[in-house]
Amino acid sequence: MTGDPGIVIVGASLAGLRGAEALREGGYDGPLTLVGDEPYRPYDRPPLSKHVLAGELPPEATALPQQRPLRAHWRLGQPATALDRTRKAIRLGDGSEVPYTKLLIATGARARPWPGEGAHLAGVFTIRGRDDAAALRLALARPPKHVLVIGAGLIGCEAASCCRDLGVPVTLADPNPTPLARVLGTLVGGTIVECLRRADVAYRAGTKVRALMGEGGHVAGAHLHDGGLIETDCVIVALGAVRDTEWLAQGGLRADAGGLTCDAACRALTRAGDPDPDIGAAGDVARWPNPLYGGREMTVEHWGNAVEQAAHAARSLLRPDDPRPYRHLPAFWSSQFGINIKAVGLAEGADAVAIVQGDRAAQRYLAVYGRSGRSIAAVSFDQARWLPSYADRIAEGAAFPPILDATDQGRVEILAPGFPPARPGPAADERMREMAHV
Ligand SMILES: Cc1cc2nc3c(=O)[nH]c(=O)nc-3n(C[C@H](O)[C@H](O)[C@H](O)COP(=O)(O)OP(=O)(O)OC[C@H]3O[C@@H](n4cnc5c(N)ncnc54)[C@H](O)[C@@H]3O)c2cc1C
Repeated sequence: MTGDPGIVIVGASLAGLRGAEALREGGYDGPLTLVGDEPYRPYDRPPLSKHVLAGELPPEATALPQQRPLRAHWRLGQPATALDRTRKAIRLGDGSEVPYTKLLIATGARARPWPGEGAHLAGVFTIRGRDDAAALRLALARPPKHVLVIGAGLIGCEAASCCRDLGVPVTLADPNPTPLARVLGTLVGGTIVECLRRADVAYRAGTKVRALMGEGGHVAGAHLHDGGLIETDCVIVALGAVRDTEWLAQGGLRADAGGLTCDAACRALTRAGDPDPDIGAAGDVARWPNPLYGGREMTVEHWGNAVEQAAHAARSLLRPDDPRPYRHLPAFWSSQFGINIKAVGLAEGADAVAIVQGDRAAQRYLAVYGRSGRSIAAVSFDQARWLPSYADRIAEGAAFPPILDATDQGRVEILAPGFPPARPGPAADERMREMAHV
């Protein structure tokens, strides 16, 4: 025994697992402990709102492959409840303590619960974990008479798509004119509206749900802000996620509901603003100044970031003498209504969108977003072949539109992206300026 407690990772999911692998790959040979509040070994979340809901994959078949032997000690089914940086120890839910030499925080996020009346009624679901997906899958298999999905983001649209594949009537309610309006704009969001129409999903644009009401303890309907009522016996709340940072409240770090703030090398910042060289963070929970966006602080809740940032944060823990900035081009994929959507960059705030490949009417195309003459993001609908080339141009901050001589390119259409007005306040203005520098 060396007496060295070793490296502890809190959060045993994608970023936690990939971080553990990166530590071993980076030559770390000491004790390694993974703490997770779920009772399961790391599993993959993207299939939960796709194949698991559709009944194509049992929830227990989502385990993430372990890419190298970890020789780790697993403390599963135990939440970390407090961090004591002075004593370098984590307290767990059962009252025990886990000391650490170095710590990687990868506690991700949880689904934002229904904030209004009726949250605890039977038949109201969120989708974040394996158990959520299993419970919802069971309800869909019964099946319900009607499903109301609240929130037309990626997970809401994927859930609506699965419901229709199962033949269940669905209403999708969102305050915006199209799904994904803030992420991709209403022009591209219009493609999803078309998919919804063809799949017979009732899309209720401009709709805000006020309260859920029940009968005999089970959800029976949703009252809308405009006085309307949607009768339903199953509700999927898809309102985004809240970062899991409460356990850090007394830890002296810059942590709040928006994430744990890090420096560019993914080392947690103390309240005084200095990086703690012994604490790294990665994945959905980590907020860091991304050099690719002029140092704008961001959290990125996508799979690819969890993998890359975990490796980066692990390196920063192993090489405190050589911290390197984590430069990341956000990217995500989604599959819904039989279409594969892939996106790179941040489109929010774009002032133009160019259809550079394919055919929008056929819902098979690649669009590039521009702001102030620069290319800032791209999205493809079943047309991802050239996306990596556009991603490179976006990362370089190439002129908009980039690549005008591709072999299979027709006439390039330049259109208005149709973003809803930015939320007011200086933060939004600042965001726009930074994105212009991508
Ligand atoms: C339904 C769904 C579908 C998705 N689909 C896509 C997709 O198609 N494409 C894409 O790019 N991304 C997708 N994502 C996003 C992607 O899965 C996440 O970005 C990724 O899981 C983040 O990994 P993470 O390890 O940072 O966080 P998480 O996966 O959230 O893991 C954090 C872990 O820490 C645990 N934890 C939290 N607090 C504590 C604590 N105090 N103590 C101990 N453990 C704790 C949590 O229970 C969890 O197990 C999807 C996410 C969901 C939920």
